[in-house]
Formats: sequence, structure tokens, C-alpha cells
Amino acid sequence: MGFFPRLLYLIKNHILSFTHHSSRIIARDQHTISNRDISKNALKVLSHLRVGGFEAFLVGGGVRDILLDNQPKDFDIATNAHPEQVHKLFRNALLIGRRFRLVHVRFGREVIEVATFRANHSHQHNQSNSHQSESGMLLRDNVYGTIEEDAQRRDFTINALYYNINNFCIYDFTNGLQDIEKRVIRMIGDPVARYREDPVRMLRAMRFAAKLNFTIDQNTAAPIEELGILLADIPTARMFEEVIKLLLTGQGEQTYRLLRQYGLFQYLFPATDHSIKQSQSTHNLTENMVLQTLINADERVTQGKPVTPAFLFAALLWYPLQECLAKFHNMAPVPALHQAAQDVIQKQLQSTSIPRRFSTPMKEIWHLQLRLLRRNGNRAQQLLAHKRFRASYDLLLIRQASGEDLGKLGEWWTEFQHSSEQRQEKIVKALQEKRKRNTKKTETVRGKQ
Ligand code: ATP
Ligand code: MG
Repeated sequence: MGFFPRLLYLIKNHILSFTHHSSRIIARDQHTISNRDISKNALKVLSHLRVGGFEAFLVGGGVRDILLDNQPKDFDIATNAHPEQVHKLFRNALLIGRRFRLVHVRFGREVIEVATFRANHSHQHNQSNSHQSESGMLLRDNVYGTIEEDAQRRDFTINALYYNINNFCIYDFTNGLQDIEKRVIRMIGDPVARYREDPVRMLRAMRFAAKLNFTIDQNTAAPIEELGILLADIPTARMFEEVIKLLLTGQGEQTYRLLRQYGLFQYLFPATDHSIKQSQSTHNLTENMVLQTLINADERVTQGKPVTPAFLFAALLWYPLQECLAKFHNMAPVPALHQAAQDVIQKQLQSTSIPRRFSTPMKEIWHLQLRLLRRNGNRAQQLLAHKRFRASYDLLLIRQASGEDLGKLGEWWTEFQHSSEQRQEKIVKALQEKRKRNTKKTETVRGKQ
């Protein structure tokens, strides 16, 4: 059943909800989540916790996505068992996190995340379990609480629905179901305070708005532009993780548009943002590059093809790299590129980390842009065999598509790589002939002057 038929079904049947504490409990016949929508492993963890004498619910993205008829990315579980207790119950469990202690239960490649109900830290004064910075940011959040308190400390209402696999009920403490129906992202509690506690919630609002095609509630959206600066305090490793979720999971283009609309892109890629804003012409090379890269990445994700942060960063920082290169104009191209790459990466590292396994190939992709120009002898053939050829060729095509004039270099490489060896030799020879003719021409012109 699609989402709208589901919705109609809900309305038609008058959601018969009754109040228990302050939650609305939506019974089995009034919603369409079924245990069949939940992964076997998540069901195993849920029932094992219950057999162990604990409460356990499916929560967050899993419930939200099933209600929207989307495939959940992963299944998160909330329980009243403490992390150590969860850990003891499962052989395949791993205690993780300091800022936020939780348990990962592993089943091959699938990881089920189990979190203990947490209370809103502001009601507590236990310094060792909860800790805030001067700006109000939550540095530690390990104060345990009830399910209702747990719902209140979640980010958006649509992410705070709990599903019980034993009685098949949904527990809704924040009117999340209504917001799913209205397709609205609404912060639980006071948005300003909640963003101060954790500024990444601003990025999450963008991500869910793009991913689910929801609108952001006005009060939830209003403080974002002013509070964006708080993202500067987030550890760069967490920012890197967020960038990947924002831009490389299938809705990068739409997410980018929202990030710019709310003035947040500058905190992710400051040099790229600066380059976009500097452009005087209507033909914004840098922004074209960003859009083209994200459109391609979205398409690849849809087709199930892999995407790599190395390519994303190489493309988004390409024009900042060119601007930086201008400073080294009296150096030879290769060392100049090397120096500019170091500088651009160093600057980016103040906003997001870039693990070395991505920054190394990223520099190679940049370096190969120079090698794509040199095609004499057997250089072109050698380059085809390079492990970064494909990514470098893709970047070359995006540069052209963005409006860079490269004299049909992209087309040359397209033809070259799809030709037989014999034909490849001819193509290179033809290029050499053309070059000779061109040098002769310039020499004759010079001679006549
Ligand atoms: P998806 O996994 O599809 O990206 P999700 O909603 O499951 O979306 P997760 O990052 O997996 O997102 O987090 C699981 C749940 O934990 C969320 O639904 C939300 O209830 C809560 N949560 C995650 N991050 C935060 C945060 N920064 N502040 C408050 N609650 C959060
Ligand atoms: Mg999730």
C-alpha cells in the first residue's frame, strides 16, 4: 500500500487513540507497520531484550521510514536496559561512544544500534553523566530516563515514534504521526535551545527535508541562519561524517540547495562558498561544478553505483584550488599544484576532517588533471591504466560541463579510451601532426612580424 492509501486508511478509520501518560498509543489496526517490515536481526534484538525483562522499542528512522513506505536505512532500538546490561545479553555486542554511550549488536554486515532511554540533561545535575559547554552544547549525554523523557530529547517529532513488536502499538509522545501526515520537520521543544545543545541538528533538518521531501516548520527553520556559526564548534570528524550523509546519499543536489538557502554551506566548504559568492558573472563556474558533481552523485546512488568522498572533495575544491594556484604562477606546474593542494586541504581541515584514505586519492585526481593534457607517445595509453584514470576523466567531463573551456579534451579522451589499440595510435599521431602544424603556423606568423 502506498503512503497516501495508508494515510486515507488512517483517516477513514478515525485514529482511535487513547492517552497513556502523555502519549497517544496507536493500536495495531490503526496503523500499517507490521513486524514483516522490520529486519529479522532487529526483531531478534527486540525480542531478546524483552525476554531479558526489559522494555524495547523500534524507534527513529526505522519507524518513520516504514510509515512513509520507504526502505529504512537501518534499525535503531531504544530500551530501558543500561548499555552494560544490553552488552551482557548479546554475544555479538560492542559498547561504543563516550559522548553518547550505546551498544552495537552485529549480525554480519548489519548493525543494530541499541540506545538506553535518556532524560533531558537540563532536569539533571549529575555532572559526571551530562556536561554542557559554555555555548550550551551537549558534550556528554548519558543521563538515563523514561521512554517519555527519551522522546523529548530526540531531535524532530517524526523521529520520536516508538513501535512495540509485542503489542504492535505505536507510541507517539510528540505528535510525530501528525507531522508525518503533514510532511513537516518540527523540532521537539525550543528550537534555539535544541540547536545550541547540538548544532548538527541544523544539518539534520536539511538532510531530512531533502531526503523525505518535507518542509521545515517555520519555528524550526527561523533560527538556523543566525545559529549556523555554532557549527564551527563541532569536531571536524563529525562534520566529515555529516557531509557524507548530506551530499553522498542520493539527495545531494536538493540538500545543497537547502544548505545554501539557510546559509549553512559556508560552514562545510568555506573556500567553495567564497568562490561561488565571488563570481561576478551569471555563469558561476564553481556553483555549476558543485551542482554537476552532486547531480552525478545522486544518479550514481540511485543506480546503486559507488560514490567516494575523494571525488566529492576533489570536485568541490577544484576551483578553490585554481584560485590558490594563481599564487604560485612562477613555479613549475607540478610543484605549484602540490603546494596549492596542501594549502587548500589544510584550510578545509578546519571545517571537516578528510581521512587520509580520501585525501591521498583526491590529490592524485587533481594531479592527473595535468597528465590528461600530455598525450604524446604512449603517455595516453599509460594513463588509461592508472587506477585514478576513471575518476580523473569524470572530473574532466564535469569541468567542461561546468563551463571550463578545455578545447574538446574530454571528447578526445572519450574517443581514445573506446578505440582499438591501432586506432589509439592513429589518434595520438594525428594529435602530434596537429601540434606540429600549429607550431609551424605560429613560427611563420612570428617570422613575418
Ligand atoms: P537515517 O538513519 O535514515 O539517516 P535516523 O532518523 O534513523 O535517520 P539516526 O542518525 O540513525 O537518524 O538516529 C536515530 C535516531 O536518534 C533519530 O531518529 C533521532 O530520534 C535520534 N537522534 C539522532 N541524532 C540526534 C541528535 N543529534 N539530536 C537528537 N536526537 C538525535
Ligand atoms: Mg537510523
